[in-house]
Amino acid sequence: MNVIHDALSLSYEGWNKLLIGELELPRFRADQICQWIYQKKVFDYAEMTNLSKELREKLRELFTIIPPMIIKEQVSRDGTQKFLLQLTDGEKIESVLIHHGNHSTACISSQVGCQLGCSFCATGITGFSRSLSVSEIVGQFLVMEKRFGKDINNVVFMGMGEPFCNTDNVFSGILALNNPKMRNLGARHISISTSGVVPGIIDLSNFEVPVRLSVSLHAPNDALRSKLMPVNRKYSLESLMDALKIYQERAGERITFEYIMIDKVNDSVGEAYELATLLNGIGAYVNIIPYNPVIEKYERSSDARIKEFCSVLSKLHIEFEVRHEKGTDIDAACGQLRKTMHND
Ligand code: SAH
Ligand code: SF4
Repeated sequence: MNVIHDALSLSYEGWNKLLIGELELPRFRADQICQWIYQKKVFDYAEMTNLSKELREKLRELFTIIPPMIIKEQVSRDGTQKFLLQLTDGEKIESVLIHHGNHSTACISSQVGCQLGCSFCATGITGFSRSLSVSEIVGQFLVMEKRFGKDINNVVFMGMGEPFCNTDNVFSGILALNNPKMRNLGARHISISTSGVVPGIIDLSNFEVPVRLSVSLHAPNDALRSKLMPVNRKYSLESLMDALKIYQERAGERITFEYIMIDKVNDSVGEAYELATLLNGIGAYVNIIPYNPVIEKYERSSDARIKEFCSVLSKLHIEFEVRHEKGTDIDAACGQLRKTMHND
C-alpha cells in the first residue's frame, strides 16, 4: 500500500479495511486509532502511546491527519466563540461554538461560501468557492472540541454553505461523528439546516442516521420566497412541503422551520396567516428570528410587528419561539458568516 490517505476522511469500515486488509493488523487497531483521533483529539501519531513505534511511523507515512488550522478566534460578550479556519489549499471558513448553560453546540460549515445567493444572507452574497471534503467537515468539529477541552454536545450544519449541495460529504461526516467507535455523537444531537433543496431532503429520508432537520423558510408563498431565495424558483413551496412530508413519515420527527423577521418584507399579519396555513398538517416548530441586519436594504422587524405576527401563530396553534441570537457582536450569528474574513 503506497497511497497516502486523508485520515479524517475515512469511515470506521474504511479504517478496518485498510488496516486489516492491507497492513494485516488485528481488528482492535482501528478502534485504538479512532479513539485517539475522535475521542482524545490527538492528531499526532507520536502521541499514540499504545501503538508501537514502528506502527506509528508507518501510520504517519500512510494516513495523514490534517485538521483545519485555527488562524483566528473571537469571543462574543455572551461567550460564543467564532473561529476562522484555514484549509490546506488556503481557503478559509468560519465555524462557531455556542454555549447555553452546560451545553455547547458546534455550528459548522459545509461549503466555502454558498452558491444559492439568498438576498438577505452575508454568506450568500459573498460568493462561492467549493464544497468541503469529509475531512474538512469532521475536522472543524474536532479542532473546536480540542480547543474547548470538553465534549461538545451538539452539531448543527448552519454555518456557511448549503449542506444539500454537498450531501455525500455531509452524510459521510455525520456517519463518522455518529459512529460509536469514532465520535459517538447521537443522531438526535445532529441537525441539518437546508434552504429547501428537495433532492437532499429525500436523500435524508433514506439516510441511516436519523438526524434532525431545519428548514430556512422565511416566506410563506412562492412569489415572495422566490424573490428572497432563488432556490425557490427551482424547488417551489409545494415540492418542498411534499418532500418534507416524506421525510416526516419516515423519520417521525418534528421539523423546525426558521423564519427571519425582516421589517415590512415578510412580517405582516397576512403573512402570518399564510405561514400557519402552509404548516397546517405537518409537525412543525417555528423559530422566529429577528433579522440580523447584514444587508443594507433590509432591517429587523420592530418588536411590535414581531408580537403581532406571533399572536396570529398562537391563535392558529402553531408552536413557535422567538429566538434571541448569540454572537451578533462578533458577526457569528446566523447569516453573518462571510466567505472571506476581514483580517482586522
Ligand atoms: N444554507 C443552509 C444552512 C445555513 S444556516 C440554510 O440556509 O438553511 C444559516 C441560517 O441563517 C439560515 O436559516 C439562514 O436563512 C439564516 N440567515 C441568513 N441570513 C440571516 C440574517 N441576516 N439574519 C438572520 N438569519 C439569517
Ligand atoms: Fe446559502 Fe443558506 Fe445563506 Fe441561503 S441562507 S445563501 S442557502 S447559506
